[in-house]
Amino acid sequence: MRSHLLNETTAELYRRSATEAVERVAAHIAATKRPFTGVSPDELSPAVDAIDLDRPLGDTSAALDELEEVYLRDAVYFHHPRYLAHLNCPVVIPAVTAEAILAAVNSSLDTWDQSAGGTLIERRLIDWTAGRIGYGPTTADGVFTSGGSQSNLQALLLAREETKTDGRTQHPADLRVFTSEASHFSVQKSAKLLGLPPESVVAIPVDHDKRMQTVALAHALERCEAEGAIPMAVVATAGTTDFGSIDPLPEIAALCARYGTWMHVDAAYGCGLLVSPTRRHLLEGIESADSVTVDYHKSFFQPVSSSALLVRDGVTLRHATYYADYLNPRSAPVPNQVDKSLQTTRRFDALKLWMTLRVMGADGIGELFDEVVDLAAEGWKVLAADPRFDVAVEPQLSTLVFRYIPSDVTSPAMIDRANLYARKALFASGEAVVAGTKVGGRHYLKFTLLNPQTTVADIEAVLDLLAGHARQYLGDSLVHAS
Ligand SMILES: *Cc1c(COP(=O)(O)O)cnc(C)c1O
Repeated sequence: MRSHLLNETTAELYRRSATEAVERVAAHIAATKRPFTGVSPDELSPAVDAIDLDRPLGDTSAALDELEEVYLRDAVYFHHPRYLAHLNCPVVIPAVTAEAILAAVNSSLDTWDQSAGGTLIERRLIDWTAGRIGYGPTTADGVFTSGGSQSNLQALLLAREETKTDGRTQHPADLRVFTSEASHFSVQKSAKLLGLPPESVVAIPVDHDKRMQTVALAHALERCEAEGAIPMAVVATAGTTDFGSIDPLPEIAALCARYGTWMHVDAAYGCGLLVSPTRRHLLEGIESADSVTVDYHKSFFQPVSSSALLVRDGVTLRHATYYADYLNPRSAPVPNQVDKSLQTTRRFDALKLWMTLRVMGADGIGELFDEVVDLAAEGWKVLAADPRFDVAVEPQLSTLVFRYIPSDVTSPAMIDRANLYARKALFASGEAVVAGTKVGGRHYLKFTLLNPQTTVADIEAVLDLLAGHARQYLGDSLVHAS
């Protein structure tokens, strides 16, 4: 069994195995005609269940053959131009190449003595991102995380620890977190993990464009003070998951300053604007935030996971610092990233962004992101001109939320069912993948455009497919009703 350990005697087997895996994936990617085969869990699970995990196949080729049947053949392929569902981007080759390096060398970024140069590379990327945000070069800091959810959790941990209570004991029930009703659910989840009761998260209404209403935020902060509660944090969103809307950051910053409240900006999606050659101004005010979530795996075309939390004052990261004699003793004179992280053993995900910047440069990423934002603007025009659809919000980023509205059906519940059916039927056909969400209690469909290869013609074709499925559903139900 030692022949499977990667070491100086097995380098040749490693080269052959890795090459074979890459060949197979490349073949799939080159031959993908649809984003999905439409396979159902019922169809696929018998094949997975039938595999006896206690009887190994012995070699990589055989295991790859088997994997064809249970994964590669039916996977959902995000690189296909008609994958339009969630915040999954096609990935850039320099980053995928970096994955091969970081898995094989297997550095762990918790301590210098497990990573050496990896630690320095991560720190440079944190400083680079901080610079893009507009933070001061000496005081800002941050750390790579597993994703936006973890970044938001850590941000709220820091916010709670930094909350001034004027000598009073801090009771979780007295703390308030303000966030828009369109923000990500990880804000509520984080509050729960931090021991705050559900009522502590106050949902601020949004305007017509799904941006936080700052007048409502001002009232909520006033009420909080009047009730003797403590405003622990305001979580603004720069790019809401459904609508790509960007909360008014400068106004929110002013309110946070007035109430001494921690300002967190969740830019998990909108962070792509940090490198946009034409749209960086949409993030104005982000430099006032105490902390910022960025998901490079959403809008920097990076493979999962690649994310970070940035903080304006690096000293605040001490709230995540614990010492272990065996790992990072207090007096250690070397840089240990574990002092700043919720994780201990941690992947060298930063290498992917590093390779991307070294090969393509920041403008290269930003231009790709600009292309999908432009595409969404074009798509909005198509939808607005099409009487078959109602489109919810003119996009600031790259999502389109819309609903099929037949002229001859008036029941909103029936229209809901037709839209739900259209999404499901499209998924089962594998021709395209779209998402769904709710607006004002009604079922809508959603395109998340992150693929610069997608064209307006793709958008039009998928709209026709959706309308066809919805039409078919309505036709069938009318037949059944009569
Ligand atoms: C996706 C998303 C998150 C969560 O990020 P993960 O990387 O999926 O954990 C948080 N906030 C927003 C606005 C998001 O779109």
